[in-house]
Amino acid sequence: MRFVYPQGKRKALTFSYDDGQSFDRRLAELLRSHGMKGTFHLNSGRLGLRRGDEVYIGAEEIKEVYAGHEVACHGVEHRNLPTITRQQAVLEIQEDRKALEQITGGLVQGMSYAFGNYDQEIMEIAKSLGIKYSRTVKDTKNFFPPSDFMAWHPTCHHDNGLLALADSFIDIAGFYELPVMYVWGHSFEFGRSGDWSIIETFVDKMAGREDIWYASNMEIYTYIRAVRQQEFSADGLTMYNPAAVSVWVSTKEGLVEAKPLQQVKLS
Ligand SMILES: [Zn+2]
Repeated sequence: MRFVYPQGKRKALTFSYDDGQSFDRRLAELLRSHGMKGTFHLNSGRLGLRRGDEVYIGAEEIKEVYAGHEVACHGVEHRNLPTITRQQAVLEIQEDRKALEQITGGLVQGMSYAFGNYDQEIMEIAKSLGIKYSRTVKDTKNFFPPSDFMAWHPTCHHDNGLLALADSFIDIAGFYELPVMYVWGHSFEFGRSGDWSIIETFVDKMAGREDIWYASNMEIYTYIRAVRQQEFSADGLTMYNPAAVSVWVSTKEGLVEAKPLQQVKLS
């Protein structure tokens, strides 16, 4: 048997874009119009700010701009967490969560590290403040799901071999279990140059594929966490799902859905 994504989908695609500048509007729409989901990591202290050529999405626009996507933390003021005091780091994360939750009306539990910088202490602080995952800037160039969600290394920045990796993802190697392609960047990288071709080409190529689950960072976190909680009988033929979401398994006989709190036979 092997674990698969919801409805038996073999792989997952997700995006993570930082800083919340106005170009997010076009990016969010591009993803939405192709049936894809992303996570947008925002600095609540910069909402609505205009500074030189930097224009940030305003608090009142968030619900509309990011509809269908996930809104997540990136620090109130985009501070470099490992270099400030522990108390300041707590405020950077906690106050960001509070502000974004106030605006979105739901739980905000995702994060990406400003400047990609973190250390063991920052990971512990973030976790203790209710953050479930946080993205780094260390491109893996592979599709393994993270071993530690508090240091979720992405597959690639959109300028780091994206289209070649897209081909590898489409013809994915058989050994991957629960593969995820995780693309990150900043929408201002397209917006300032006016060149959106790389992301448009990628999105066109990856859209509408039967075997891909298009999900936000948090949805992938939730699913993989559930997978890692599964319990098995000693002979491995019965699986108990203690999680709050369905978990899907592909067996020789076909696809099996284990609903929350349900036991299923795997053969
Ligand atoms: Zn940033």
